[in-house]
Amino acid sequence: MIVVMKPGATAAEIGAVIRKAESFGVKTHPIYGENRTVVALVGDLTRVNREVFDQMEGVMHTLRIQEPYKLSSRTTRPENSVIEVAEGRVRIGGSEVVVMAGPCSVESRSQIIEIAHAVKEAGATVLRGGAFKPRTSPYDFQGLGLKGLEYLADARAATGLPVITEVMREEQVPMVAEYADILQIGARNMQNYGLLQAVGKQSKPVMLKRGISGTIRELLMCAEYIVSNGNYNVMLCERGIRTYETATRNTFDLNAVPVLKEQTHLPVVADPSHGTGLRELVPAMSRAAVAAGADAVILEVHPDPDAAVSDGRQSLTLEDFAALMKSLRRVAEAIDRRILEPVEMLELA
Ligand code: PEP
Ligand code: MN
Repeated sequence: MIVVMKPGATAAEIGAVIRKAESFGVKTHPIYGENRTVVALVGDLTRVNREVFDQMEGVMHTLRIQEPYKLSSRTTRPENSVIEVAEGRVRIGGSEVVVMAGPCSVESRSQIIEIAHAVKEAGATVLRGGAFKPRTSPYDFQGLGLKGLEYLADARAATGLPVITEVMREEQVPMVAEYADILQIGARNMQNYGLLQAVGKQSKPVMLKRGISGTIRELLMCAEYIVSNGNYNVMLCERGIRTYETATRNTFDLNAVPVLKEQTHLPVVADPSHGTGLRELVPAMSRAAVAAGADAVILEVHPDPDAAVSDGRQSLTLEDFAALMKSLRRVAEAIDRRILEPVEMLELA
């Protein structure tokens, strides 16, 4: 249930609603929008007397939220959430489409710095790179760990690009949050509820990837775990799902993009690299994702994909990536959006 405040409701009136709701034994989440503030009530609502709120100063009306993902629902917040990354240098969810790019894995200091310069030159505004890698085989490269995080920070210092990297375990959250500008929750961890709660209790933005066999509804419920712990800076990522189809590594579910845009105010990211698994399909599906309304795309890029320690088959070369950026700009324009350009990134204070 949400209590919708009148435009211009005072802090004292909002505070009174919160105290009243808490007197019924439920948790409250005030959500401040451009046009209205709502107080969301979550928990056991059986003791809550709705009429009481209608009588209170500053209250417009109350509304029952049908969806189980109360705080992430579009009904609770009709406007798009815009997430500020690295003190607002990059904003995700607004009219600009953000391109995140980089290697699947951080392989060395020079590799990540070289790629960071190249993807920025082509137009990326966030650098991706895995330091902790979830691998199907325990014998495969597991990532450089802390060294990888340090190299990402060096690449950020060299280029000014904020960085996104995966956190795999609850106990790694403080360490990864110290280095990363966006914490990535990988597909295999979508329903790792302890990890979701841990990233919900800190304030760095989180990109939650859809599980390999996760439904859109399950993805939204997982986002709710993060948001209900206090961190509203959550974006959702479609990265392909497991189906009977074997022509591609995963089935890139582009339907998820407009479905999510309809159901939630949280920004939506598309990952055509994992979505297809094949670099020759990545440009077409990146353009399709932008056309479908994705707020950001995340792409794997490597100077020598065949020599990459992970996901080389789906990684674009630096040249392919630069060429793709050109057509992405045109697609964004066709739907009255723009690609956020590195020159527009606000200077660090
Ligand atoms: C990745 O981003 O490299 C990755 C491991 O992604 P996913 O969790 O979607 O497989
Ligand atoms: Mn990868």
